[in-house]
Amino acid sequence: MTKRKIIVVGHGAAGLCAALSALETARERGMAAQVTVLDRASESSCGGGSRFSPSNIRMLSPDAMEPGFVDGIVAQSGGRADRAYFERLAAEAPATASWLQDRGTAFHTPPYYLAKGPARIQPVGSIGVLYEALRRSAQAAGVEFLYERELRRLVLDGARVVGVETGTAADVIHADAVVLASGGFEGNADMLREHFGPGGETLRPISPGSALNDGGGIRAALEAGARRSGDWNGMHIEPVDARSSGSAPVVLVYPYGILVDANGCRFFDEGAGLMHETWERLSREIHFSLPGRTAYAIFDAALLEIPEYGRAIRSEVPPLRADSIADLALQLGIPAAALGATLAAYNAACTGDSARFDETRKDGLASVPGLSPPKSNWARPIDRAPFLAWPLVGAIAYTFGGIATDTEARVLGADGPIHGLYAAGEITGHFHGSAPNAVAMLRALVFGRIAGRNAASVE
Ligand SMILES: Cc1cc2nc3c(=O)[nH]c(=O)nc-3n(C[C@H](O)[C@H](O)[C@H](O)COP(=O)(O)OP(=O)(O)OC[C@H]3O[C@@H](n4cnc5c(N)ncnc54)[C@H](O)[C@@H]3O)c2cc1C
Repeated sequence: MTKRKIIVVGHGAAGLCAALSALETARERGMAAQVTVLDRASESSCGGGSRFSPSNIRMLSPDAMEPGFVDGIVAQSGGRADRAYFERLAAEAPATASWLQDRGTAFHTPPYYLAKGPARIQPVGSIGVLYEALRRSAQAAGVEFLYERELRRLVLDGARVVGVETGTAADVIHADAVVLASGGFEGNADMLREHFGPGGETLRPISPGSALNDGGGIRAALEAGARRSGDWNGMHIEPVDARSSGSAPVVLVYPYGILVDANGCRFFDEGAGLMHETWERLSREIHFSLPGRTAYAIFDAALLEIPEYGRAIRSEVPPLRADSIADLALQLGIPAAALGATLAAYNAACTGDSARFDETRKDGLASVPGLSPPKSNWARPIDRAPFLAWPLVGAIAYTFGGIATDTEARVLGADGPIHGLYAAGEITGHFHGSAPNAVAMLRALVFGRIAGRNAASVE
């Protein structure tokens, strides 16, 4: 019996789902198959963003989507999202969650940061637990792994993809089907500059895994005739503690304080929306518009009185702390007089009833007209010691621009699907504007599984 050979490029969640489902599908059909995952990183450093992801997943429960899931995503994208793709995602999500449960992943409903957002589930365990479960299942099933092998080019026979070239031109691995799952271009300084403009090249990767995604899979697919898709000026970026060297040391309490720049001036409506509605815009503004590409989030004792406020802070470095604003400014290295004046103006504009403050929802506690920029919710004076501060920078989690795929995870060229080529996860361009909350991992899992199934069965 001849073996069907499948190459999967990328050892993240999408690639591991594809590899496992390809092998399982082939066996269900009584076919012999060899499934190989190759990754440019070493065994200990591969896994991309998946290895560092808390994997929040936008589902009501493992067997149900929230009502309006697809409409919400299409509306958020300004009508640009491919409805059919997200309908397939919603239709397949429960079956995918059940498939993962059968392979050792349990789900629970995680507490939201502080304010409520869309319903979501999460694998039970520490960061990366889902990725580790997939890696173990793929190993146990007999998937082969090749580390430190970078995809350079796809090998074509006419219009069909028949293998991959890694390293030199002599390094060709032939295959009946190839699944691309090698992430976005968040680790490629040149591409970041090209698509986000000057300063793009200095964006900090949010995790060590994100730094390894260099867009090589996207470039190889485009060379082979794939169409571009998604928002090439879009990225998911979050505000992190500038002092931390940890993975994703986010500081997401900023809606409850104020943000100032290095001159001590406010520049952003901190209360414009729930944290996940403003974090990308804020982080872009910090990186591309502020002096020193740094902002300072300032709070007083009221922050410490918010129950479980620490859930929204993932930095291991304690905040700067002072008994006076002048001392805080000194520690931050920003002009004390300017920060004092900013706070005086801000406090004077916070005339609402502080008893209405509610960190779990947009509470409507707005600054009075005239404050510029305004603070639209959670506007309470900042006047009680201790005063606290975190310096914030923007850190990129993933890019939106990628290659076009359809509801069967087939890569699309100018004339339709490219034979023998599938793709899933971040490498595919399906996000526009701002990232739909908690959908990136879900689509890596769902379309990874679809890609593997089709790579194993479609001639
Ligand atoms: C800190 C963090 C938190 C996140 N939190 C959430 C969340 O809560 N919910 C959510 O939905 N999403 C979240 N995300 C996003 C989500 O985790 C990712 O979108 C998802 O894991 C992407 O999976 P992937 O398999 O497509 O890519 P990745 O997991 O990034 O894997 C890509 C793999 O391809 C390899 N590779 C790259 N280039 C090449 C090449 N040229 N040749 C060979 N191999 C290559 C890499 O080494 C890597 O192993 C988070 C991401 C990060 C980083």
